[in-house]
Amino acid sequence: MSPSVTDKLVAANRRYAEDFTDPGMDARPVRQVAVVACMDARLDLHAALGLDLGDCHTIRNAGGVVTDDIIRSLTISQRALGTRAVVLIQHTGCGLLQLTEDFRDELAQEVGQKPSWAVESFKDLDRNVRQSVARVRTSPFLLHTDDVRGFVFDVTTGLLREVEAEPVPAK
Ligand SMILES: [Zn+2]
Repeated sequence: MSPSVTDKLVAANRRYAEDFTDPGMDARPVRQVAVVACMDARLDLHAALGLDLGDCHTIRNAGGVVTDDIIRSLTISQRALGTRAVVLIQHTGCGLLQLTEDFRDELAQEVGQKPSWAVESFKDLDRNVRQSVARVRTSPFLLHTDDVRGFVFDVTTGLLREVEAEPVPAK
């Protein structure tokens, strides 16, 4: 039987660990930043942002949309592990641009149970980034909401484009 993809990953880890030395790092991110991004396989956050091991928290999901679970991670990131800035990254060609909330209805039809989560699909990338920035800025759980910026990553050029946020609403 040929090795599965997971077998290959485990083998790669053995080689990684051979050259690994304990960096002696603290769990608190050195650059005090949390990056929220889409799980897209074409997005190499550390390379694209010049980040090193230990620099930041990376919190990813489908779309890089700010869901309750992203807020949970950001809250822990800020309150327990000292981050202060939030960078949100969505990208061109995102799979969620092709989906609609019908996905959820079809799923419910198929399995006989409605998921508790929204698909969080979107048609307008910039609008979605702005909404994500607003969700972070208005969260009552976060300590630091003054340095929250949103970007679109172009998967064909590797460039980030900043999306102008809406004015900060009063908390
Ligand atoms: Zn995506």
